Amino acid sequence: MKLVKTFGESAKKAEALIKGLEQRGAVNTAKVESVVRTILADVRQGGDAAVAEYAVRFDELGKDISLLVSREEMQAAWDDTPEDLREAMQVARANIRAFAEAQKPKEWTISPPEPAKGGVKTGQIVRAIGAVGCYVPGGRYPLPSTLLMTVTPAQVAGVQRIVVCSPKPARETMAAAWLAGVTEFYRTGGAQAIALMAYGTETIERVDKIVGPGNLYVTAAKEIVSQECGIDMPAGPTEIVVTSELGDPAGIAADLVAQAEHDPEALAILITSNEQLAHAVSAEVNRQAKDNEIAKESIAAQGVIFVTESVTVSQTLTNRLAPEHLSVDSAEDLAWVRNAGSVFVGAFSPQSMGDYVSGPNHVLPTGRNGRVRGGLSVSDFLKVITVQEYTRKGLDALGPRAILLAEAEGLTGHAESVRVKMGRKS
Ligand code: NAD
Repeated sequence: MKLVKTFGESAKKAEALIKGLEQRGAVNTAKVESVVRTILADVRQGGDAAVAEYAVRFDELGKDISLLVSREEMQAAWDDTPEDLREAMQVARANIRAFAEAQKPKEWTISPPEPAKGGVKTGQIVRAIGAVGCYVPGGRYPLPSTLLMTVTPAQVAGVQRIVVCSPKPARETMAAAWLAGVTEFYRTGGAQAIALMAYGTETIERVDKIVGPGNLYVTAAKEIVSQECGIDMPAGPTEIVVTSELGDPAGIAADLVAQAEHDPEALAILITSNEQLAHAVSAEVNRQAKDNEIAKESIAAQGVIFVTESVTVSQTLTNRLAPEHLSVDSAEDLAWVRNAGSVFVGAFSPQSMGDYVSGPNHVLPTGRNGRVRGGLSVSDFLKVITVQEYTRKGLDALGPRAILLAEAEGLTGHAESVRVKMGRKS
């Protein structure tokens, strides 16, 4: 991994590199935008035939194979899955479900303070989104784990229609779909899958929101369709930052290599003020990534170790980068963490545990979106709808204030609507 010091002679070079990393989301989308726009337009116009054509071209769909994955295929895949792997999927699903249940927002009602007290009830009701599309990556590796991570919280939220799209679905992905009770699963990926879910076709109805991670094509497509279909977040090529002063070099390197193997576009970074640790991790990464072609490629292209002048600088830099996955030395570090998708604490918390079985979602914000949100949650599948109810007493108490504010804004219709209901002339 390349070593860059954030101080001394290389300070300027480091700052330029950091600025580039801060803009990574937009830069990445720009790389594929024109290809993606063409695919989206083709599917919008050509419907099923266009999806099938792209699925044949990109996703190795045989010309005589149906886009729809049937329940029989899912069941056969489940039956064919080894018992221990089935048990692991069941445990993962149970933990994801328990976590999503705990995240569920509540319905409540309050009574605002004086002067309206007693005359007004305000509150929120919680309703599930009607139809959701879950994108499950399948380009380089099948990700049955992502099927469970997207479908399970949607089910906990009570979403009525759940659509899954995945290219070249492997036995394990179809088995996970069977376990989760998926009924609508299309064998397609990339921008064409996003178009299918966002626009619908002559036979497939569009969804209200698309969730799930993917490569640059998927992420760019989600961003483009977001003008007319809800999306969760940009959850693109994986990112990892390890911020450590005293970690074990082999353990840190293992986390870096693990996340780097997702994609040649993956981003793996170590931040430390401990130069000795920096060199030890670098050597370990070289050793551990030796036979891992994708990890080697992404680490050579994007991997970096920042050696800083102090722990405080390391912390500030971490928050500036707002990484998807962040590993820190101990729970005390949580005090300075402001921007990250998901945090892994201590030497016994490999990031891969979060990818599979812990329960917190592994669909996480990339491209510095850790500044504005955390990972996929049950709330992404829910709407919190506010409600307000006045009695005559409450309207009499608060109405005159609303009239004053409306008139200050010049919105006379607003003021009048309150007066009419108050039965007042002034
Ligand atoms: P993928 O399913 O995301 O993408 C495969 C699809 O990309 C193909 O079906 C094809 O349609 C399209 N594609 C590939 N090359 C193309 C080209 N030249 N032109 C047009 N379309 C093309 O699978 P993947 O590629 O393995 O990527 C999975 C991604 O998901 C990785 O980047 C991984 O890091 C990321 N990921 C992110 C998170 C997260 O939460 N941020 C979680 C898991 C995985």
